[in-house]
Amino acid sequence: MSNGEFDIAVVGAGLAGLTAGLTGARLGRSVLIVTGDILGGLLLSVEKVEGYPGFPEGIPGYDLCPMTQVQAADAGAQFSMASVQALQSRDGHWRLETNAESHTAGAVILATGTRFRRLGVAGEDIYFGKGVSQCASCDAPLLRGKEAVVIGGGDSAAQEALTLAPHVSGLTLLVRGGALQAQAIYRDRLLADGKVEVRYNAEVEEILGEDVVTGVRVRDTSDGAVTEIATEAVFVFIGLQPNAEFLNGVVPLTESGHIPTDDRMRTVRPGLFAAGSVRADNAGQAVAAAGDGTSAALAAHAYLEEDSS
Ligand code: NDP
Repeated sequence: MSNGEFDIAVVGAGLAGLTAGLTGARLGRSVLIVTGDILGGLLLSVEKVEGYPGFPEGIPGYDLCPMTQVQAADAGAQFSMASVQALQSRDGHWRLETNAESHTAGAVILATGTRFRRLGVAGEDIYFGKGVSQCASCDAPLLRGKEAVVIGGGDSAAQEALTLAPHVSGLTLLVRGGALQAQAIYRDRLLADGKVEVRYNAEVEEILGEDVVTGVRVRDTSDGAVTEIATEAVFVFIGLQPNAEFLNGVVPLTESGHIPTDDRMRTVRPGLFAAGSVRADNAGQAVAAAGDGTSAALAAHAYLEEDSS
Protein backbone atom coordinates (compact mmCIF):
# COMPACT_ATOMS: atom_id res chain seq x y z
CA MET A 1 0.00 0.00 0.00
CA SER A 2 1.26 3.51 -0.82
CA ASN A 3 0.87 6.64 1.30
CA GLY A 4 -2.70 7.39 2.31
CA GLU A 5 -5.06 9.54 4.34
CA PHE A 6 -7.54 7.84 6.65
CA ASP A 7 -10.04 8.84 9.31
CA ILE A 8 -8.73 6.20 11.70
CA ALA A 9 -5.43 4.33 11.70
CA VAL A 10 -5.28 1.27 13.93
CA VAL A 11 -1.81 0.07 14.89
CA GLY A 12 -1.86 -3.67 15.59
CA ALA A 13 -4.02 -6.49 14.29
CA GLY A 14 -4.76 -8.66 17.29
CA LEU A 15 -8.33 -9.06 18.42
CA ALA A 16 -8.46 -5.49 19.83
CA GLY A 17 -7.10 -3.89 16.65
CA LEU A 18 -9.23 -6.00 14.32
CA THR A 19 -12.37 -5.21 16.31
CA ALA A 20 -11.48 -1.50 16.39
CA GLY A 21 -11.09 -1.62 12.60
CA LEU A 22 -14.35 -3.49 12.19
CA THR A 23 -16.29 -1.02 14.36
CA GLY A 24 -14.66 2.05 12.79
CA ALA A 25 -15.49 0.83 9.28
CA ARG A 26 -19.08 0.05 10.30
CA LEU A 27 -19.37 3.65 11.53
CA GLY A 28 -18.54 4.80 8.01
CA ARG A 29 -14.95 5.78 8.72
CA SER A 30 -12.05 5.09 6.37
CA VAL A 31 -9.85 2.76 8.39
CA LEU A 32 -6.32 1.49 7.91
CA ILE A 33 -5.05 -1.33 10.11
CA VAL A 34 -1.26 -1.34 10.16
CA THR A 35 0.51 -4.37 11.48
CA GLY A 36 4.10 -5.39 11.21
CA ASP A 37 3.36 -8.85 12.47
CA ILE A 38 1.24 -11.74 11.40
CA LEU A 39 -2.42 -10.73 11.66
CA GLY A 40 -4.04 -12.10 14.78
CA GLY A 41 -1.59 -11.30 17.56
CA LEU A 42 -0.82 -13.57 20.50
CA LEU A 43 -4.22 -15.27 20.41
CA LEU A 44 -3.37 -16.77 17.04
CA SER A 45 -1.40 -19.55 18.72
CA VAL A 46 -4.02 -20.30 21.38
CA GLU A 47 -5.52 -23.77 20.86
CA LYS A 48 -8.79 -22.92 22.57
CA VAL A 49 -10.03 -19.45 23.57
CA GLU A 50 -12.50 -20.11 26.36
CA GLY A 51 -15.07 -17.86 28.00
CA TYR A 52 -15.68 -15.94 24.77
CA PRO A 53 -19.44 -15.30 24.48
CA GLY A 54 -21.18 -17.29 21.77
CA PHE A 55 -18.69 -20.18 21.75
CA PRO A 56 -19.63 -22.47 24.67
CA GLU A 57 -17.12 -25.11 23.54
CA GLY A 58 -14.37 -22.52 23.08
CA ILE A 59 -12.87 -21.50 19.75
CA PRO A 60 -9.29 -21.80 18.49
CA GLY A 61 -7.51 -18.42 18.38
CA TYR A 62 -6.35 -19.36 14.88
CA ASP A 63 -10.02 -19.42 13.84
CA LEU A 64 -11.32 -16.47 15.87
CA CYS A 65 -8.69 -13.98 14.68
CA PRO A 66 -8.95 -14.71 10.93
CA MET A 67 -12.77 -14.65 11.22
CA THR A 68 -12.55 -11.17 12.78
CA GLN A 69 -10.05 -10.10 10.13
CA VAL A 70 -12.42 -11.13 7.33
CA GLN A 71 -15.26 -9.35 9.11
CA ALA A 72 -13.20 -6.13 9.36
CA ALA A 73 -12.13 -6.35 5.71
CA ASP A 74 -15.73 -7.00 4.58
CA ALA A 75 -16.80 -3.89 6.53
CA GLY A 76 -14.24 -1.87 4.54
CA ALA A 77 -11.11 -1.74 6.69
CA GLN A 78 -7.86 -1.74 4.72
CA PHE A 79 -4.68 -3.47 5.84
CA SER A 80 -1.01 -2.65 5.58
CA MET A 81 1.69 -5.10 6.61
CA ALA A 82 4.32 -2.67 7.81
CA SER A 83 5.99 -1.77 11.03
CA VAL A 84 5.22 1.65 12.52
CA GLN A 85 8.46 3.38 13.36
CA ALA A 86 7.32 6.89 14.27
CA LEU A 87 4.09 8.57 15.21
CA GLN A 88 3.73 12.36 15.23
CA SER A 89 0.90 14.81 15.74
CA ARG A 90 0.96 17.59 13.17
CA ASP A 91 -1.69 20.23 12.33
CA GLY A 92 -4.46 18.28 14.07
CA HIS A 93 -3.58 15.03 12.29
CA TRP A 94 -1.46 12.04 13.17
CA ARG A 95 1.34 11.02 10.86
CA LEU A 96 2.49 7.40 10.86
CA GLU A 97 5.88 6.54 9.43
CA THR A 98 6.33 2.86 8.70
CA ASN A 99 9.27 0.98 7.27
CA ALA A 100 7.47 1.06 3.90
CA GLU A 101 5.30 4.17 3.65
CA SER A 102 3.70 7.05 5.55
CA HIS A 103 0.05 7.74 6.31
CA THR A 104 -1.99 10.43 7.97
CA ALA A 105 -5.08 9.86 10.11
CA GLY A 106 -7.44 12.01 12.11
CA ALA A 107 -7.32 9.51 14.97
CA VAL A 108 -5.01 6.63 15.88
CA ILE A 109 -5.88 3.58 17.94
CA LEU A 110 -2.88 1.82 19.48
CA ALA A 111 -3.61 -1.90 19.76
CA THR A 112 -0.12 -3.37 19.64
CA GLY A 113 -0.74 -5.97 22.33
CA THR A 114 1.89 -7.78 24.32
CA ARG A 115 4.56 -10.41 23.93
CA PHE A 116 5.53 -13.21 26.30
CA ARG A 117 8.17 -12.21 28.82
CA ARG A 118 11.39 -14.19 28.94
CA LEU A 119 12.80 -15.70 32.10
CA GLY A 120 16.32 -14.33 31.80
CA VAL A 121 18.14 -17.41 33.14
CA ALA A 122 21.20 -19.11 31.70
CA GLY A 123 20.40 -21.41 28.79
CA GLU A 124 17.13 -19.72 27.82
CA ASP A 125 18.48 -17.76 24.87
CA ILE A 126 20.89 -20.49 23.77
CA TYR A 127 18.15 -23.13 23.61
CA PHE A 128 15.27 -20.93 22.43
CA GLY A 129 13.82 -22.83 19.46
CA LYS A 130 15.86 -25.89 20.50
CA GLY A 131 13.47 -27.02 23.21
CA VAL A 132 12.64 -23.68 24.83
CA SER A 133 9.34 -22.40 23.44
CA GLN A 134 6.45 -20.02 24.03
CA CYS A 135 3.91 -21.75 21.78
CA ALA A 136 2.27 -24.89 23.14
CA SER A 137 -0.09 -25.43 20.20
CA CYS A 138 2.88 -25.29 17.78
CA ASP A 139 4.98 -27.84 19.63
CA ALA A 140 2.44 -30.15 21.29
CA PRO A 141 2.17 -32.59 18.34
CA LEU A 142 5.99 -33.01 18.38
CA LEU A 143 6.02 -34.00 22.04
CA ARG A 144 3.91 -37.12 21.89
CA GLY A 145 5.07 -39.49 24.61
CA LYS A 146 7.66 -37.04 25.99
CA GLU A 147 8.00 -35.09 29.24
CA ALA A 148 7.53 -31.33 29.26
CA VAL A 149 8.11 -28.53 31.76
CA VAL A 150 5.97 -25.38 31.91
CA ILE A 151 7.15 -22.38 33.94
CA GLY A 152 4.61 -19.92 35.38
CA GLY A 153 1.51 -19.89 37.56
CA GLY A 154 -0.96 -17.56 35.80
CA ASP A 155 -3.63 -18.13 33.17
CA SER A 156 -1.17 -18.35 30.27
CA ALA A 157 0.89 -21.11 31.92
CA ALA A 158 -2.28 -22.97 32.92
CA GLN A 159 -3.94 -22.66 29.53
CA GLU A 160 -0.81 -23.75 27.66
CA ALA A 161 -0.12 -26.61 30.10
CA LEU A 162 -3.64 -27.87 29.43
CA THR A 163 -2.97 -27.68 25.68
CA LEU A 164 0.17 -29.80 26.11
CA ALA A 165 -1.16 -32.35 28.61
CA PRO A 166 -3.11 -34.58 26.19
CA HIS A 167 0.00 -34.97 24.01
CA VAL A 168 2.84 -35.50 26.47
CA SER A 169 3.56 -38.45 28.74
CA GLY A 170 4.00 -36.15 31.75
CA LEU A 171 4.19 -32.45 32.53
CA THR A 172 5.73 -30.56 35.44
CA LEU A 173 4.34 -27.10 36.11
CA LEU A 174 6.87 -25.01 38.02
CA VAL A 175 5.22 -22.29 40.08
CA ARG A 176 7.51 -19.73 41.70
CA GLY A 177 5.15 -18.89 44.57
CA GLY A 178 3.12 -21.00 46.97
CA ALA A 179 -0.10 -21.12 44.92
CA LEU A 180 -1.42 -21.16 41.38
CA GLN A 181 -2.83 -17.78 40.35
CA ALA A 182 -4.68 -19.11 37.32
CA GLN A 183 -8.47 -18.81 37.29
CA ALA A 184 -10.38 -21.55 39.11
CA ILE A 185 -11.55 -23.43 36.00
CA TYR A 186 -7.93 -23.93 34.85
CA ARG A 187 -6.62 -24.62 38.35
CA ASP A 188 -9.20 -27.36 38.93
CA ARG A 189 -8.47 -29.02 35.59
CA LEU A 190 -4.73 -28.95 36.15
CA LEU A 191 -4.94 -30.37 39.66
CA ALA A 192 -7.27 -33.12 38.42
CA ASP A 193 -5.05 -34.06 35.45
CA GLY A 194 -3.14 -37.23 36.25
CA LYS A 195 -0.32 -36.29 33.87
CA VAL A 196 0.34 -32.91 35.50
CA GLU A 197 2.54 -32.44 38.56
CA VAL A 198 2.47 -28.95 40.06
CA ARG A 199 5.59 -27.94 42.00
CA TYR A 200 5.34 -24.84 44.17
CA ASN A 201 8.15 -22.61 45.44
CA ALA A 202 10.06 -23.75 42.37
CA GLU A 203 12.50 -21.21 40.98
CA VAL A 204 14.23 -22.13 37.74
CA GLU A 205 17.94 -21.35 37.94
CA GLU A 206 19.11 -22.64 34.57
CA ILE A 207 17.91 -24.36 31.41
CA LEU A 208 20.30 -27.18 30.67
CA GLY A 209 21.27 -28.61 27.32
CA GLU A 210 23.75 -30.06 24.87
CA ASP A 211 22.81 -28.69 21.43
CA VAL A 212 19.17 -29.01 22.52
CA VAL A 213 17.41 -28.81 25.88
CA THR A 214 18.02 -31.70 28.25
CA GLY A 215 16.52 -30.36 31.47
CA VAL A 216 16.07 -27.57 33.99
CA ARG A 217 17.77 -26.87 37.29
CA VAL A 218 15.28 -25.83 39.96
CA ARG A 219 15.73 -24.42 43.45
CA ASP A 220 13.05 -25.02 46.06
CA THR A 221 12.75 -21.61 47.76
CA SER A 222 11.24 -23.13 50.91
CA ASP A 223 14.32 -25.22 51.81
CA GLY A 224 16.97 -24.21 49.26
CA ALA A 225 17.19 -27.73 47.77
CA VAL A 226 18.39 -27.81 44.16
CA THR A 227 17.17 -30.54 41.80
CA GLU A 228 17.32 -31.24 38.08
CA ILE A 229 14.34 -32.28 35.98
CA ALA A 230 15.10 -34.07 32.71
CA THR A 231 13.05 -32.79 29.77
CA GLU A 232 13.37 -31.96 26.07
CA ALA A 233 10.77 -29.19 26.20
CA VAL A 234 10.55 -26.09 28.37
CA PHE A 235 7.71 -23.59 27.98
CA VAL A 236 8.04 -20.13 29.53
CA PHE A 237 4.78 -18.35 30.38
CA ILE A 238 5.65 -15.88 33.12
CA GLY A 239 3.64 -12.82 32.09
CA LEU A 240 3.28 -10.39 29.25
CA GLN A 241 5.33 -7.40 28.13
CA PRO A 242 3.46 -4.55 26.39
CA ASN A 243 4.57 -3.66 22.86
CA ALA A 244 4.77 0.09 23.39
CA GLU A 245 8.48 0.89 23.16
CA PHE A 246 8.10 2.15 19.59
CA LEU A 247 6.04 5.09 20.92
CA ASN A 248 9.23 6.68 22.12
CA GLY A 249 7.61 9.19 24.48
CA VAL A 250 4.61 10.06 22.27
CA VAL A 251 2.45 9.19 25.24
CA PRO A 252 3.56 8.55 28.84
CA LEU A 253 3.58 4.89 29.86
CA THR A 254 2.96 3.29 33.24
CA GLU A 255 5.84 1.74 35.17
CA SER A 256 4.99 -1.63 33.60
CA GLY A 257 5.12 -0.09 30.11
CA HIS A 258 1.36 -0.03 29.45
CA ILE A 259 -0.53 2.91 27.91
CA PRO A 260 -2.83 4.67 30.37
CA THR A 261 -6.30 5.66 29.12
CA ASP A 262 -9.59 6.83 30.56
CA ASP A 263 -12.60 4.53 30.40
CA ARG A 264 -13.28 5.63 26.81
CA MET A 265 -9.85 4.42 25.74
CA ARG A 266 -8.57 8.00 25.33
CA THR A 267 -4.91 8.65 26.08
CA VAL A 268 -3.76 12.07 27.27
CA ARG A 269 -3.05 13.04 23.63
CA PRO A 270 -6.05 14.29 21.61
CA GLY A 271 -7.00 11.83 18.87
CA LEU A 272 -4.82 9.05 20.30
CA PHE A 273 -6.54 5.99 21.78
CA ALA A 274 -5.39 2.63 23.10
CA ALA A 275 -7.13 -0.75 23.21
CA GLY A 276 -6.43 -4.31 24.30
CA SER A 277 -3.62 -5.74 26.39
CA VAL A 278 -1.20 -2.87 25.66
CA ARG A 279 -3.59 -0.63 27.59
CA ALA A 280 -3.19 -0.20 31.35
CA ASP A 281 -6.06 -1.84 33.27
CA ASN A 282 -7.21 -4.02 30.36
CA ALA A 283 -8.94 -7.09 31.80
CA GLY A 284 -6.61 -9.50 29.98
CA GLN A 285 -9.24 -11.69 28.32
CA ALA A 286 -10.09 -12.04 24.64
CA VAL A 287 -13.57 -10.62 25.12
CA ALA A 288 -12.10 -7.59 26.90
CA ALA A 289 -9.70 -6.98 23.99
CA ALA A 290 -12.65 -7.01 21.57
CA GLY A 291 -14.64 -4.72 23.90
CA ASP A 292 -11.73 -2.29 24.15
CA GLY A 293 -11.46 -2.22 20.36
CA THR A 294 -15.11 -1.32 19.94
CA SER A 295 -14.97 1.34 22.68
CA ALA A 296 -11.84 2.89 21.15
CA ALA A 297 -13.41 3.06 17.68
CA LEU A 298 -16.58 4.66 19.07
CA ALA A 299 -14.50 7.22 20.97
CA ALA A 300 -12.35 7.92 17.89
CA HIS A 301 -15.51 8.40 15.81
CA ALA A 302 -16.91 10.84 18.40
CA TYR A 303 -13.59 12.70 18.47
CA LEU A 304 -13.62 13.08 14.68
CA GLU A 305 -17.25 14.29 14.77
CA GLU A 306 -16.34 16.96 17.34
CA ASP A 307 -13.27 17.90 15.34
CA SER A 308 -15.30 18.49 12.18
CA SER A 309 -18.09 20.48 13.87
P1 NDP B 1 0.37 -13.11 34.73
O1 NDP B 1 1.13 -11.86 34.96
O2 NDP B 1 -1.07 -13.15 35.04
O3 NDP B 1 1.05 -14.31 35.53
C1 NDP B 1 2.43 -14.51 35.45
C2 NDP B 1 2.80 -15.71 36.28
O4 NDP B 1 4.17 -15.99 36.09
C3 NDP B 1 2.60 -15.50 37.77
O5 NDP B 1 2.20 -16.72 38.34
C4 NDP B 1 3.99 -15.09 38.24
O6 NDP B 1 4.28 -15.45 39.57
C5 NDP B 1 4.85 -15.95 37.35
N1 NDP B 1 6.17 -15.36 37.18
C6 NDP B 1 6.50 -14.09 36.91
N2 NDP B 1 7.82 -13.95 36.80
C7 NDP B 1 8.35 -15.17 37.03
C8 NDP B 1 9.66 -15.67 37.06
N3 NDP B 1 10.71 -14.89 36.83
N4 NDP B 1 9.84 -16.98 37.31
C9 NDP B 1 8.77 -17.79 37.53
N5 NDP B 1 7.50 -17.37 37.53
C10 NDP B 1 7.29 -16.07 37.27
O7 NDP B 1 0.64 -13.48 33.20
P2 NDP B 1 -0.16 -14.45 32.21
O8 NDP B 1 0.61 -14.41 30.95
O9 NDP B 1 -0.46 -15.74 32.83
O10 NDP B 1 -1.56 -13.69 31.98
C11 NDP B 1 -1.56 -12.35 31.47
C12 NDP B 1 -3.00 -11.85 31.34
O11 NDP B 1 -3.69 -12.59 30.34
C13 NDP B 1 -3.81 -12.02 32.63
O12 NDP B 1 -4.69 -10.95 32.75
C14 NDP B 1 -4.56 -13.30 32.37
O13 NDP B 1 -5.76 -13.41 33.12
C15 NDP B 1 -4.83 -13.20 30.89
N6 NDP B 1 -5.05 -14.52 30.28
C16 NDP B 1 -6.34 -14.97 30.24
C17 NDP B 1 -6.62 -16.19 29.72
C18 NDP B 1 -8.02 -16.64 29.70
O14 NDP B 1 -8.88 -15.95 30.23
N7 NDP B 1 -8.33 -17.76 29.11
C19 NDP B 1 -5.56 -17.07 29.18
C20 NDP B 1 -4.23 -16.51 29.28
C21 NDP B 1 -4.00 -15.28 29.82
P3 NDP B 1 4.50 -14.37 40.73
O15 NDP B 1 3.16 -14.04 41.26
O16 NDP B 1 5.37 -15.08 41.67
O17 NDP B 1 5.14 -13.16 40.10
